[in-house]
This record gives sequence, structure tokens and C-alpha cells, in this order.
Amino acid sequence: MKLTNDVHVVGSGRLGFGISGALDCHVYLINGGNELALIDTGMGLPGDFEQILANIRDDGLDPKRIRKIILTHYHCDHIGAAQEAYQRLDAEVIASRIAAPAIRSGEERAVALDVAKAAGFYPLDYHLPPCPVTREVSEGDRITVGDYTLNVWDTPGHSDGHLSFTMQGSDRTYLIGADLVFWGGKIVLQNIHDCRIDAYAKSVLKMAALDFDALLPGHLQISLSGGKAHVEQAAAAFKQLGVPPNLL
Ligand SMILES: [Zn+2]
Repeated sequence: MKLTNDVHVVGSGRLGFGISGALDCHVYLINGGNELALIDTGMGLPGDFEQILANIRDDGLDPKRIRKIILTHYHCDHIGAAQEAYQRLDAEVIASRIAAPAIRSGEERAVALDVAKAAGFYPLDYHLPPCPVTREVSEGDRITVGDYTLNVWDTPGHSDGHLSFTMQGSDRTYLIGADLVFWGGKIVLQNIHDCRIDAYAKSVLKMAALDFDALLPGHLQISLSGGKAHVEQAAAAFKQLGVPPNLL
């Protein structure tokens, strides 16, 4: 599904557009001209990633041109299909330095999969396939996707090692925020070991100070203009020492 000249949504589950596996986050495809990049991969239940590849072809793009698989954070709805994507696309896998060890090991406790299964979010027989990370990044790094450059931001709080990206596209600036902030200034605070309210506040305030037009979150509504207002809403609550509304 083409969003703009630069970005397609190629996966999205029941907290979104229902175009791939029910548990999938929004999976974005950046079209940099001579190369493509995936942002996250979705959950990777059987057939889910195949559907994402079919969606890419339906948009008139060849998945073989994907040279980078960029992972925002290690929650399974975002990276469960990373191993399959890596094997099928033979592309670079890029993740934060902090998240990389857990992505490589697939260790359930490190990514809070054990408690997420116990809470009923994911099937009890689900296991996270470990995936190589071929490049580790942190704030200040840049990732080139053809004509475009993604600026890397460390945005922990929702989880340790959570990344966001800003990108100047052909006609607008994007914040690729994953699970940092959602439409209406909502956040996802969870009772898990690496969800940290003070880090969350710092990350939101940092990103609210940047200029961007579009907010591309990991779930729910996408804002192609005026996206900054949603981040500012969350920032306003944190500035009052409060907590923005929670999605859960
Ligand atoms: Zn998450």
C-alpha cells in the first residue's frame, strides 16, 4: 500500500490495516530509488512474511531489491519474521547495539516474550527465531537507503534499545517512531522488565524537539502531515510529570 512517493506500508495486522498477519506491526518499505529497505518485519507466524512479500509485489516493487532490514526494537510483533526475511532476502540486518544480542539469541526473557505469552498476547507455542544482526547502530549513525538517509535516534523507554529514525523524503520529513508515540499522543507502557518511564519521557521530549511532518508509528493511525502534534501531546503530559494515555 503506497503511502507517499517514498514509503509503502507492506505489512500490518489487527492493530492496523489487516493486510498481513494479525499480530504484525506496521511494516514499512522505504523506496530509495536504486534500493529498498524494510522497517521491521512483523511477527512471522507461518505465511505472514509470504503475505508481506506478496504485498510488495502488488505495489509493483521487487522484494529482491531490499538490501536492508532495519529493526526498531526486539518485540516479537516487530522482529519475529527477521530470520525469515534475512534468509529469503539476503539483506543487511540493522538493529541497535543494545538490542542486537537478544535478536541474535532469540532469548525469550530478554525480549519479554515469556511474559507476553503468559499474558495471552502471543501463542504459547511461539518461539522467536534468532536472527543475525550484521550492523549495530546507535544515535548519530546514519543509514543510507538509495537516495535517502535515515538518522538514528536512541529512544528507550518502551523497551531498552528502542530506535527511532528521521528521514528527509522527497516532499516531507518523516519520524519513523515504532512504539514511541501513537496517534493522539498515546504511548505503550507495559509491566515488563525494560519498560522505563523516565527513559520514555526523555525519549519523547527529545523527539518532540525535532521538526518532522509525518509520524509513522508501529501500530494504529499514520499521520502523513501534522505528525509532530501527536508527539507534542505526549511530551506535554510528561512535562507536567504525568504520563500520557496508555494504549493498553
Ligand atoms: Zn513494542
